[in-house]
Amino acid sequence: MYLKGIATSSGIAIGKVYKLEQPTIVISEGSKDPEKELQVFEDALTKTISDIEQIKERASATLAPEELAIFDAHLMMAQDPEFKDQITGMIKDGSGADQATKTVSDMMISMFESMDDAYFKERAADIKDVSFRLLCNILGLTIPDLTTIDEEVVIVAEEMTPSDTAQLNKKYALGFVTEIGGKTSHAAIMAVALGLPAVVGCTGIMASCKHGDKIILDAKEGDVIVNPSDEQLKEYEEKRIRFLEEKAALQVLLDKPSITLDGHQVELVANIGSPKDMDNVIENGAEGVGLYRTEFLYMESTDDFPSEEDQFNAYKVVLERAEGKRIVVRTLDIGGDKKLPYFEFDPEMNPFLGYRAIRLCLDRKDIFKTQVRALLRASVYGKLAIMFPMIATIDEFRAAKDFVLETKEELKGEGIPVSDEIEIGMMVEIPASAVLADEFAKYADFFSIGTNDLIQYSMAADRMSEKVAYLYQPLNPSILRLIKMTIDGAHSQGRWCGMCGEMGGDPMAAPVLLGLGLDEFSMSATKILPTRKIITSLNKKEMEELAQKALKCHTESEVSELVKSVLKG
Ligand code: PEP
Ligand code: MG
Repeated sequence: MYLKGIATSSGIAIGKVYKLEQPTIVISEGSKDPEKELQVFEDALTKTISDIEQIKERASATLAPEELAIFDAHLMMAQDPEFKDQITGMIKDGSGADQATKTVSDMMISMFESMDDAYFKERAADIKDVSFRLLCNILGLTIPDLTTIDEEVVIVAEEMTPSDTAQLNKKYALGFVTEIGGKTSHAAIMAVALGLPAVVGCTGIMASCKHGDKIILDAKEGDVIVNPSDEQLKEYEEKRIRFLEEKAALQVLLDKPSITLDGHQVELVANIGSPKDMDNVIENGAEGVGLYRTEFLYMESTDDFPSEEDQFNAYKVVLERAEGKRIVVRTLDIGGDKKLPYFEFDPEMNPFLGYRAIRLCLDRKDIFKTQVRALLRASVYGKLAIMFPMIATIDEFRAAKDFVLETKEELKGEGIPVSDEIEIGMMVEIPASAVLADEFAKYADFFSIGTNDLIQYSMAADRMSEKVAYLYQPLNPSILRLIKMTIDGAHSQGRWCGMCGEMGGDPMAAPVLLGLGLDEFSMSATKILPTRKIITSLNKKEMEELAQKALKCHTESEVSELVKSVLKG
């Protein structure tokens, strides 16, 4: 069966389906035999405790001790005598093991949820987790667990959250397909960073395959084939090998500068989400880091905001490993599709337009302060640039910058050294800041264009929705004009302008961006060499002419045609 999804990256995956599907709990009805049900319950509870112990054991290889504490909380819950007594009491009165467990856990969940104290509210989430596992064990249902995969598979899921993606073991995960999500959803971005083939927004995939089916996915074309014929298998196996050969051939560009045929040099730098990604940065010949998404540090922590010390250590490693190349660290950009297990966001109709990123940081200076102190302390270990996300107004930028400068004085007062060479810049990802870029450039040392959000907000099209994914049009002349305004704005004040949204590593966009004068292209490390190949084959002067033509086009497809003619030639 053939299905079409949204292409996110490159590469071909061929393998067995691992379906990431939470089982549906259906509670039985009517009274039951207490003796039998007590046995079912006892067995399920023992299994639940040993499951949690095993998960904790496996996680201890990758998680820090304080992050493992969550499993201790779960174990305590599962071994709580009060919890057990209430359930067994109900079973003795004729309830089924499933009915009793559900009733008692629901009662406890709502009791904890109604408490004011944040600590107790969080306990409700623990009870939900434990009782879900217990109910599955009572009913004989299996809970999929990405960390337990120990054979090569292609993951098929309704949706992959950034934390699901973070759990993937590259050794066994050949790629993934999701039912929902767009090209710039964070799951897709992380797949590219991991160098994994992924297809998102593949409507109907969950209903079209089962665990263990054979599957092919072509991440460049967005093609997915379930239970392919022998002929299709052969065709895609050949394609896969060709792709790997082309990838290997790019290695000659590893230490080469990114210079056009007529001698114009740009910077090709990488997007990272954690210090671990520095291996990839170095292996792929990146000239620095243009976006360090620090929110992953916050998302990996399970029970509290990462401490100043934890953050300092992470930033220090990244700066040291860069050996003097610039590292642009973006301050906390949480909210939208990025949530934290230990911080409750008030419900909003439109979280992507709500309380997030710099808005939250300027409101919660306590949270912001920890990060800024950690960054400033780390600044002496390399070449640091700090960048604020989601800046809409000059007031916001000035407030954030002043806060950094005040914190710097505070640290100096404490006798802690801080570099005097830190650049302070901003993301341009809200149309308002693109339009006013020439004025912003009087305050910011640099810009980095976040096209994922800039396009989402300019087109009023949710980046998570596959239904409106057709409006993700990086080459639409309207977007190109906003980009031009931003680059020209930066240059009018002698500032540099980069781009760290997915468009920065899009081969179709490279010729136009070069022509518009973009100074720095930041992308997944795996895209650096293919982009260097394109840049080194182009002529800047010619691309300036191309860009001028593109700006006058009416539609994205007209611009695409122009670009294709250049890339072919
Ligand atoms: C962007 O919006 O383009 C960007 C780089 O930030 P993020 O994808 O993390 O929102
Ligand atoms: Mg963004």
